[in-house]
Amino acid sequence: MSETAGIVGSGADSQDTSTSESNKAARKRRRKEPPPEPTPLPGLVDAHTHLAACGGRDPDTVRAILDRAERAGVGQVVTVADDMIDARWALEASRWDHRAFAAVALHPTHAAELDDAAKSELEQMVADPRVVAVGETGLDHYWPSRSDSCATPAVQAEAFRWHIDLAKRIGKPLMIHNREADDDLLAVLAAEGAPDTVIMHCFSGDRTVAQECVERGYVLSFAGTVSFANAAELRFAAELVPDEQILVETDAPFLTPHPYRGQPNQSYCLPYTARALAEVRGVDDATMARILGDNARRVYRLPLQ
Ligand SMILES: [Zn+2]
Ligand SMILES: [Zn+2]
Repeated sequence: MSETAGIVGSGADSQDTSTSESNKAARKRRRKEPPPEPTPLPGLVDAHTHLAACGGRDPDTVRAILDRAERAGVGQVVTVADDMIDARWALEASRWDHRAFAAVALHPTHAAELDDAAKSELEQMVADPRVVAVGETGLDHYWPSRSDSCATPAVQAEAFRWHIDLAKRIGKPLMIHNREADDDLLAVLAAEGAPDTVIMHCFSGDRTVAQECVERGYVLSFAGTVSFANAAELRFAAELVPDEQILVETDAPFLTPHPYRGQPNQSYCLPYTARALAEVRGVDDATMARILGDNARRVYRLPLQ
């Protein structure tokens, strides 16, 4: 989960300036409604979603979410864990449906839960062929001062180092969560030595951070935030990433792309963000989808469908 929605303003309803009660009520109702299905954009892979948080906690619901995604052109998804319970859900989902793959780790906000039992369970899980990445791990400097249950920055850094080492030992990509921690995060990665593949999930940095990540060979994954009205700097970042180093993700159920910001997100909404990236990068939608899908299949070593 990126939890970055708060940094770029509020509300999906910037066009509606009316303050009448009825319009307010209508806006409130709309926030609960799922966005309409986009025109399909074939070939996409959702590089980071949370199926369990979207309600996918049994085979039928997972299948329904992935059927809907497939109708929109999103043929495969990587479902990501935040804590140990979520990690087990993610692995289950990847076994229930051939279109789902898992990434497991303890989210930085849960880093204090990384005891010996969690370490040995995660080590077993990442060896599973359905697990395609170690993540999401990294640093979150937003939550420690706002939540008593959030791990401190020092505890997060220690857990991050353990996950970096795990990714190197197992030879799978490292999927990074970074919230307001650019300098520290890049420093830890440089000091530890990054694994061969590093994915900056829900990239939210400016163009300087983007350039540094590109030069280090990291892969930048963009979520719905790149389509938000006030995300001009993020769009500069999205423009400078080479074709081989860009991914697209939903981070569902959060970060629903413009103009449905604030409404519930799911993998079927991915074409909205892919089209926003195509516009930013000045390519046609089909070309953008091919680049994004090919990159995801290569980076995560997904089987071709
Ligand atoms: Zn996430
Ligand atoms: Zn995240």
